[in-house]
This record gives sequence, C-alpha cells and structure tokens, in this order.
Amino acid sequence: MNERGNRIDVTADRAWKECIEIIRDNVSGQSFSTWFAPLRAVSLVEDGDDLKLTVQLPSRFYYEWLEEHYFDLVRKSVRKVLGPTGRLYYDIVIEQDDAERGAPGASMQLPARPANEPVSGDDELSNDDFRMSYSGASFDTGPSTPEMPSTAIQNPFVIPGLRRSPVTTNLNGSYTFERFIEGDCNRLARNAALAIAQQPGKTQFNPFLIYGGVGLGKTHLIQAIGNYVRANKKAESIMYVSSERFTTEFVQAIQHNRASDFSMFYRSIDLLVIDDAQFFGGKEKTQEEFFHIFNALHQSGKQIVLSADRPPRDIEGIEERLLSRFQWGLSADMQPPDLETRIAILQRKAEDDGIAIDNEIIEFIGHNIKSNIRELEGALIRLLAFSTLNKREIDLKLAKEVLRDLIKDTQVTLSIDEIQHVVCDYFDIVVDLVRAKTRKREVVQARQIAMYFSKELTQHSLKTIGLHFGGRDHSTVIHANQSVLNQIDTDHKYRQTIEEIRHKLELRSR
Ligand code: ADP
Ligand code: MG
Repeated sequence: MNERGNRIDVTADRAWKECIEIIRDNVSGQSFSTWFAPLRAVSLVEDGDDLKLTVQLPSRFYYEWLEEHYFDLVRKSVRKVLGPTGRLYYDIVIEQDDAERGAPGASMQLPARPANEPVSGDDELSNDDFRMSYSGASFDTGPSTPEMPSTAIQNPFVIPGLRRSPVTTNLNGSYTFERFIEGDCNRLARNAALAIAQQPGKTQFNPFLIYGGVGLGKTHLIQAIGNYVRANKKAESIMYVSSERFTTEFVQAIQHNRASDFSMFYRSIDLLVIDDAQFFGGKEKTQEEFFHIFNALHQSGKQIVLSADRPPRDIEGIEERLLSRFQWGLSADMQPPDLETRIAILQRKAEDDGIAIDNEIIEFIGHNIKSNIRELEGALIRLLAFSTLNKREIDLKLAKEVLRDLIKDTQVTLSIDEIQHVVCDYFDIVVDLVRAKTRKREVVQARQIAMYFSKELTQHSLKTIGLHFGGRDHSTVIHANQSVLNQIDTDHKYRQTIEEIRHKLELRSR
C-alpha cells in the first residue's frame, strides 16, 4: 500500500481492538464471530486531518455485507475510538491468485470515491439526521447533475461521513430489474413495476402498492422502479424514503418550524417511493401530511409507489380517506418464492458474485430455505464467508454444517414416506410396491434399502417403520437393516448404490 502520511501500525491493532469491543457488545455472538472476528487491522495513518484506519477483509462479500448490515455500528465505533476525524478503509484480500502466487497477503483496495471528493460535513449529525434542503429543493436529479455524481449514492467505499450525502434520492443502485428474478410469486408485481418505470405517472397504476411478507423483494422492486426511471431519465426528481423516515423528518420539520418546507419539498417530486407504509399506521398527523402530498402529486400526474407488509386494509390505524386513495391504482402482492425461483435466485447471486458453486449445493439451499429471499441470500453469503475463512471447499458437508441453525427452524427431518419416494425413484419403481407384499427381487431390494434409511435417518421406532411398509413387524426391519449392512461390506457396487441414494436423501434433509 502506498499511504501518504505517517504509518503508525503499532496502534492500528489497538485501535481496531477497541472498535471491535464496542461492536462485540452490539451484535450476537454468531454475527460477531462470522463477520468481525476475522478482520485484521492493517494500518493507521494520518492523512491530512484524517485518521485513516485500514482493516483487511477476507473477501468482497465481507465488504458488501458489512456495508449493508453494520454500516452504522462500524461507523459509530470508529468515531468513538478515533474521534470525529476517524475514517475507515477496507483492504480486500484477492482470493483467486493466492494459491498460484503463494501470496496470501495479496490485497486490493476497492475503488474508493475520488480522494478529492469532499467529505460531507455531517460529523455532528447522528445517522438519523438526514438533511435535505427543502427550500432550495436542490436534491439529486439523476446521474447528470454536476454537484452530485451518481457514485455518491452507490455505496461509497470510505465509510464515515460519506455515505449519507446531504441530498440524495436514497436509492440503492444495486436494486435493479436486471437483478430481480421473475417467478410466479412476483410476476404481477414485477411486470406492473416495469410498466410504471417506463412511464411513471402515465399508467393507470397510480398509486402502485406492493404488499407481502418480509424478505420477499418489495424494497428491491420499488427501488428498481426508481433506478430505472433515474437511468432512463424518465423523470427529474426521485425520492425513495421509508414511512418511518418520512415520519421522523416530518416531526423534525415541525419542531424546527419548517413544516411548509417539508411539504413543498415532497410536492416537488416526480416519483415518490414510500417503503413500509404500514408504519404510517396510527400516526395521524403524518398521515394527514402524506394525504395532502399524495393528492398534490396525484393531481399533477406524478407517480406514487408504496410498499407494505400486508394488504392496506389490514394495517391498523390508517385513515379511511387514505385507504381509499390507495385503491385508486393497483395493488399487487408478493408471495414466497417457489423452489424453481429460489434456485434461479441462488444461481444468479452466485453468478453475479463470480463464485463457482455446485448445483447440488444450490439445490440443497433451495430445498431447505423456503421462507424468504433475504434468508436465501444470507445462507449463500454465510456459506461463502465460512469457506473463505476456513479455506475449505464448499461441499454438501460444509453447507450442512454452516447452515444448520438456519435450516433447523424451517425444515422437518425426512419422513419415511419421503425416503420411500427417493429410493423408489432411484430404482424407478412405483412407491406402492415397497408397501405391498411383492417379493420381486428389485422390489425387495428397494424395500430393504428404504427400511435401512428409515432406521438410520428418522426417529421412528422399528415398529412404526414396519407399519409403513405394509404392516411388517419389527423383526423384518432388523433383518432388512442387517442385510443391507452385510451387502455394503461385501459388495462394492452395492455400496456405491447406497451412497448415491444417501446423497439424494441428504439433499432433502438437514
Ligand atoms: P422486503 O423489502 O420485501 O423485505 P427486500 O427487497 O429487502 O425484501 O429483499 C430481500 C433481499 O432479497 C434483497 O437483497 C433483494 O435483492 C433480494 N431479492 C428479493 N427478491 C428477489 C428477486 N426476485 N430476485 C433477486 N433478488 C431478490
Ligand atoms: Mg423492505
């Protein structure tokens, strides 16, 4: 690294240790050991007025994950330890070349914002103190605005002070349509969203409201509208804001006698995207303000997009007149993804991140993590992090180990029925046969193997297992089990068959 200024490496370690202690108090043990314990301080240097602390991350995933999930916490801890001029930089280990060059320490710094770009002076502000110039209305109008290059909102690399620029659309540039996988679960919402993005304010979908459970892609999709509109210059001013933040800002505006600025600011927006509108529930004053903004925008043909975690009617404490406005346009729901969509999403994520990962691992994750897409992503990232950290290949064993606690809640163990299906599938025989009296050779073999796995992989008693195989008694199960074990010992080909079936079963169990 070519750092200007004095290197004070001795204290980098100590400074980071102090940061880490603060972080440790604020995250779960599991998160801490996964995401923070592996980080190493590289240097602490003075650069002009700034104190630059550089830490090394094992891979790019860390960078993305930390930015996404721990930005505030890391920033606060760095500030606390290094003071207001503290800045954190990341060094990222280059993985693929390590082996060849035998240089495990090889690293790169991700392209940071240009060094001469001013640090926004929000040092004194808490993170909630997001500032906008209401009266000047000089918010970001897109990539071409000279004061605000588009990079400003795309995860700037240097952490403290830079991420929140004073005025911004608040959009996360990675939430695009290209990265959004379409499936039965989200087709309507996605297609409507695209139509709106192509002609904001001009379709009959105004307002457009997406609702559905957590982690299903609502935020992604409504931001995709914003990003598309921005990239294709379909509208001038775009604002994405959560209803919570809208509420906080409104309250602050009132406190500072700037309610009319607030109101004017929002009325001047062409595409207003409000996330998690359920938080408007019970907030009468804010709803009233929003109601008027809504009317003003709608009347002048501006687009309004909303998301909520349930149908609007089910949100408590929403005024009737606002509810009826919501029904003017289109509501689309998002459902949990089906297996194919889950697999497609995982494949895409792996591809986007440039990771080679076996299909069977993808299938394993897809089969087992069903509830939502955020968890699906989390599982993949955790797996990658773990494999990078421990320098282990990603295989089924590792996947099971690492994802055990994620899967526990959602997955029941294999049932005898499932085992029978997998085994019969393997031998291409009808599943009813293993439950019947047939003594045909291949049926007997399949039955024995299914019994063997039922004994090994389920908690059921021998008696119960026997009952599932056409009411046979427990001694038959013992006999089958013994017979399988004997053949495994003596017959190489048979052993291989058993392993192949085991593998198929494992893909379905935790
Ligand atoms: P919600 O707002 O409904 O809680 P998010 O939009 O935050 O959910 O989605 C959670 C994560 O899953 C995000 O990282 C998002 O990019 C990803 N995601 C959701 N749906 C899809 C999809 N259809 N294709 C690709 N990624 C998706
Ligand atoms: Mg969301």
